[in-house]
Amino acid sequence: MFKNYAALADDVLAGHALTRDEALALLNSPEEELLDLVAAASRLRRHHFGTSVKVNYLVNLKSGLCPEDCGYCSQRLNAGTGILRYSWLSPEQAVEQAEHGIRGGASRVCLVASGRGPSNREVGKVAGIVEALKTEHPGVEVCACLGLLKDGQAEALGAAGVDAYNHNLNTAEANYEDICTTHTFQDRVDTVHRAQEAGLSPCSGLIVGMTETDEELVDAVLALRDLGSDSIPVNFLIPFDGTPLEGTWELTPQRSLRILAVVRFACPGQELRMAGGREMHLRSLQPLALHVVNSLFLGDYLTSEGQAAAADLEMIRDGGFTVLGQEATDDGDAAPAAADAEQPALRRRGAGTELAPNA
Ligand code: SF4
Repeated sequence: MFKNYAALADDVLAGHALTRDEALALLNSPEEELLDLVAAASRLRRHHFGTSVKVNYLVNLKSGLCPEDCGYCSQRLNAGTGILRYSWLSPEQAVEQAEHGIRGGASRVCLVASGRGPSNREVGKVAGIVEALKTEHPGVEVCACLGLLKDGQAEALGAAGVDAYNHNLNTAEANYEDICTTHTFQDRVDTVHRAQEAGLSPCSGLIVGMTETDEELVDAVLALRDLGSDSIPVNFLIPFDGTPLEGTWELTPQRSLRILAVVRFACPGQELRMAGGREMHLRSLQPLALHVVNSLFLGDYLTSEGQAAAADLEMIRDGGFTVLGQEATDDGDAAPAAADAEQPALRRRGAGTELAPNA
């Protein structure tokens, strides 16, 4: 077993592949060593990505009414989640939505559609959207996330200008039947391979906090490493009312941070994204997580709202990080507090007043 986190980071930088036992030890590291763990993971992050943060922006092209039964998903058929439901956005609508994220600094737009997988006609629809988006914004990367792919569909998306394909493994193979019965873990692996073989950059990640054991979580991380995923979004379960996982709150901010550190140690050179649910699970530790991850989604998620995009960008700058693609205009140095802050609110409650104090 490793001597300490810094020594393990040295080993990983020298090419050591994190073992299952080491990953479990990191996941179960004591509270009082959390900062040491983050500091070691941060060295890996900085070695591969410096201080850059890749900003991604989600556009939900088609929302809800999915026939699959993924237990975590607010878009499954008959989920009583009250989410927005709509059919395909037009290319004009999709480009307009994407432009909000691009203006916010997104260098990758993720085009997502609910469903088991696209028909060839739907792949054609997405191709039209990608062509429209790339005509207006040729420098922006496009990731498609459309579900399970059939033969030839990844190639068609690549020909239309799609750069990457997202399909998350979500959890360990041993746990998969517990969260979904309408498709298998292997179906998901096959789709990532299809995308990879067609020359698309594979993006595949996790949803944590779905009652998985530590061993299952580590197995899922190592499966992503074996899969060769270029980017790894780590989602923290948002337990929507109306889904089978409603009311499942298993994560603490510290555990969420440790999970990110385990992924960083296992996949040191991969884009690691703190994704959906970060606000409610990492909570006030989000800025610390930026020392481990090098990527996030700006603003809202597919069916739930994230924190204000301006707060995301402020968090990046306050931590001394720079948005990828904006290095020339952004020195990573946050503005002094007084420069753009409002005047302090004068106290008008508590001692000396009739009102209750702020406590
Ligand atoms: S296939 Fe996708 S949209 Fe459908 S239920 Fe599963 S995660 Fe949700």
